[in-house]
This record gives sequence, structure tokens and C-alpha cells, in this order.
Amino acid sequence: AGAITPEQYQKVVDEAYAKFKGVKDGANADYIPILAKVPSDMFGIALVTRDGKVYAAGEQQYEFSIQSVSKPFTASLIMAEQGPAAIRKKIGVEPTGLPFNSKMALELYPARSVNPLVNAGAIAAVSMVEADSEEDRWNKVYNNIQAFAARDLQVLEEVYESEMSEVWGNRAIANLLYNYGRLYADPEESLRVYTRQCSIGINTRDLGIMGATLANEGVNPITNKKLLDKEDVPELLAIMATAGFYDESGEWMYRSGLPAKTGVGGGIVAVVPGKFAIATFSPPLNEAGNSVRGLKAINHIAGELGVGLYGPN
Ligand code: GLU
Repeated sequence: AGAITPEQYQKVVDEAYAKFKGVKDGANADYIPILAKVPSDMFGIALVTRDGKVYAAGEQQYEFSIQSVSKPFTASLIMAEQGPAAIRKKIGVEPTGLPFNSKMALELYPARSVNPLVNAGAIAAVSMVEADSEEDRWNKVYNNIQAFAARDLQVLEEVYESEMSEVWGNRAIANLLYNYGRLYADPEESLRVYTRQCSIGINTRDLGIMGATLANEGVNPITNKKLLDKEDVPELLAIMATAGFYDESGEWMYRSGLPAKTGVGGGIVAVVPGKFAIATFSPPLNEAGNSVRGLKAINHIAGELGVGLYGPN
């Protein structure tokens, strides 16, 4: 296939927006109380190419909480600091086949329990950051995500407070991990830094640029900063491919053929390696916890452009 033209990119993005903006299925996450109040009709798409060109439709300004879409980027930080083998050895790379906040996953296979895209593995990743203090740990996590987005980002303090007020499940996970020797810093500190990481505010375009950095072999297309070695990007994308879509990661891969990560704030980022990323934002989630309009839009765009990794979809 020939190169995709700017007109083609913009056309499929506009089409996907028009086609799915009226979809009313799904509901905002509400286990983090404040997320239930985010307006459900917002919908944005940003396709960002590896050289930083943005093709956008719909909502681009609203700053939503990054939530679990932060997880691959902190995994990237650990890979950059310590190499991919550290992730495999100290966290694991197996999809759990269980909910993202499962405690059972930790009980079943204490030796190779999880992966960095479920809560247990993501809290463990935060605990692996080389840091002298909680502030230092936070700054490294925060700066890394800002470097991926190529701009200064704010923490949505209300989201942080809201999640911390109901954080019992993740607290249990942090304590269980610690008990099994699978957490590498203080459990409460790891929990706080992880929850703050999830509360970082990003807009649709930011997420597109973050994804485009992975599409561009680890180099941010706006700042030209190398955030991850080119050799390590495939390992990160492989984890996204097997575990990025909660309990419908198989269904997602079957339909789209693309590595991706979703979050309960309504964000999704999918990566076409070497080419571009597609980011979407829309709060209502399906039963598996994935943004309904977002997943439809990405599937539509990937299908129209024929970019599924296993052949045209
Ligand atoms: N902060 C959320 C939690 O730990 C993230 C969940 C998500 O987006 O999957 O429950």
C-alpha cells in the first residue's frame, strides 16, 4: 500500500467522529466517585503521526484523568532505567485473564503473577523507580509522563482525593505484593505515587503525542527527546497487545490487530508501530471498562486504513 495522505488521515478521523458521536451506550466509571460527574457526551479523537502531525476531531481541550493509560508509560520508564528484563523478572508479562484490580491473580502465581498494565504490576512498577524519597519517586514518574506528552501537565487534585478516599482494594494489592516480596518500596508510598500518577490530567491530543512517541521508536516527535531505546519499544508494545484492554484484550486484538491501552477516565491510545497513534477520549465505558465510542472509532480508523498488524482488517 502507498503512503497515507494527510487528506486520507483527516477524512477517516472525521468519519469516525461523525459515525460514533451519537452512540449512547456505556456508563462513566463511578467506583472513583468523581469520575461519574465528567460530562458523558464529550468525545475526541487525535491521530498523531510519528513525525508529530495531528489529525483531530471533537474534544481536544478537556483534561481528563489519565488513569490506567499511564501504565505503559511508567513501564517504559522502568525499561529505560533498568532494561526490559527487569520488568519480566520483577513484575511479569503474563496477561492475568482476571480483572485489572484482581487480588486473586497475586495468590495464584506469586512468582510470575502479573504484568505492568494491571494494578498490581503498575503499583510494583512505581515501587521499582530508583528514588531516594517519595518526592523523588513522584517527580520521576510525573516528569516521564510530561516528557511523553511534550508539555507541563497538572495533577487533577480532586480526582486524586476522590480515589484515595476509596482506595481499599489497591491498598490490599500493595500489601499483598509487599508480603510476597513483589513490591520494592513502602506500600503506602507506592500506593500514593501510583494514585497520583493515575490522576494526571491530559487532553486527547496529549495522549496522541504520547502514543506517537511509541510509534516513533521511543523518540518524542515534538521535542525529539529519546524516552525509550528503539530496541525496547517492541517489548512494551507486546505487553500492550496482550493486556491493554482489560478482560477484552483478546477480543480487541481479534478485531483491531493493534497494541493499545485504555483507562477508566475514558482515554484509549492505540499504536501502529513505525506509523502513528490513535488516541480517543469519551467517558462512557462498556462492561469490560473500555470507552465505547473510543474503541469503535479506533477500530473504524484502523480498518479503513488497513493497518492491523496481522493483515488488513
Ligand atoms: N486509578 C485506577 C485504579 O487503580 C485506574 C484504573 C484504570 O484506569 O484501569 O483503579
